[in-house]
Amino acid sequence: MTRNTRTVEALVIGAGVIGLSAAIRLQEAGLRVRVWTAAAPAETTSAVAAALWYPYLAYPAERVAAWAQRTFAELVRLADEPGAGVHMVPGFELWRRAVPYPSWGAGVPGLRRIPPADLPAGYADGHAVTVPVARMGTYLGYLADRFAAGGGRLELRTVRVLSRAAHSAPLVVNCAGLGARTLASDETVVPVRGQIVRVENPGVERFWLDDEHPEGLTYIVPRGDDCILGGTAEKGEWSTTPEPEAARGIVRRCAALEPRLAEARILEHRVGLRPARPSVRLEAAELPGGGRVIHCYGHGGAGVTLSWGCADEVAEIAKEWSAGG
Ligand SMILES: Cc1cc2nc3c(=O)[nH]c(=O)nc-3n(C[C@H](O)[C@H](O)[C@H](O)COP(=O)(O)OP(=O)(O)OC[C@H]3O[C@@H](n4cnc5c(N)ncnc54)[C@H](O)[C@@H]3O)c2cc1C
Repeated sequence: MTRNTRTVEALVIGAGVIGLSAAIRLQEAGLRVRVWTAAAPAETTSAVAAALWYPYLAYPAERVAAWAQRTFAELVRLADEPGAGVHMVPGFELWRRAVPYPSWGAGVPGLRRIPPADLPAGYADGHAVTVPVARMGTYLGYLADRFAAGGGRLELRTVRVLSRAAHSAPLVVNCAGLGARTLASDETVVPVRGQIVRVENPGVERFWLDDEHPEGLTYIVPRGDDCILGGTAEKGEWSTTPEPEAARGIVRRCAALEPRLAEARILEHRVGLRPARPSVRLEAAELPGGGRVIHCYGHGGAGVTLSWGCADEVAEIAKEWSAGG
């Protein structure tokens, strides 16, 4: 029998960028959707993200490139939507060795290799590109409002047992991020701790990114009146307390690229735990005792970058299932 998609309910677990984007796409596919989340959107890892469109610490490369490309197009569209908090920002990806053309480059207009003479001292290669940046405080609020405007309900509620959630809706979508480690008994999901410093913007207009800086991951993401300076990438570390020494190192490395940042007023120190996994888990499974789950977690350092591509795929799987497939 074909199920009527208008009456099917989906329960999305998680209100980070992955859960909210999936919830919106499921709504747009005609499902009635509820979101349960242990923490409000502003308290999630997603809220800490520098939110530069850039596939970092997410695998496998081929699926990641496809999801990233779909998300790029959607974020470009949202950059024109007032109040969404998305902006297009030009900048540089820098390398200390020669690198091949990036796997994420297809579908990114204007990507070009930086001529050697234009590279800053110490760098051997790099790309200039304009990409979307989301101001996550604003963007998560925009997503939550859009979901609510579509008739969705978001409730603060922690799910302890995945199969019991299926008693509340025939379709469960697991977007619990790092929480999936317990919820889906998946020890391959591990935290990769990231510390950032938010500073007043002294006039920086370009992003800078040096993944392989010998002293640690280094990036500058300007967002208008402030800049996010990063970072760290500490696998297996669970502490969310900012470390003063790490913050000093971040500012020092960023100021080497943009000297104006050395004296920039510090507004905030924050830490987030990236939900890393050897590969993003996006697949459907049967739950013990009946019910179906679509797992969508493990986006590492690229949840924003992959969000709409993954949300589209979640909705496609749900539609097939709703149609009795
Ligand atoms: C410092 C830093 C910088 C970053 N920069 C970027 C960047 O520039 N670009 C980019 O694309 N990505 C970036 N990221 C990565 C990005 O933040 C993550 O990939 C993304 O937030 C993952 O989103 P998520 O929705 O899966 O997880 P989360 O945002 O962690 O959301 C998980 C949700 O699940 C809920 N949950 C968990 N367990 C349960 C449960 N049992 N019951 C109910 N709810 C539950 C939580 O409350 C939360 O709502 C950065 C991350 C950090 C830390």
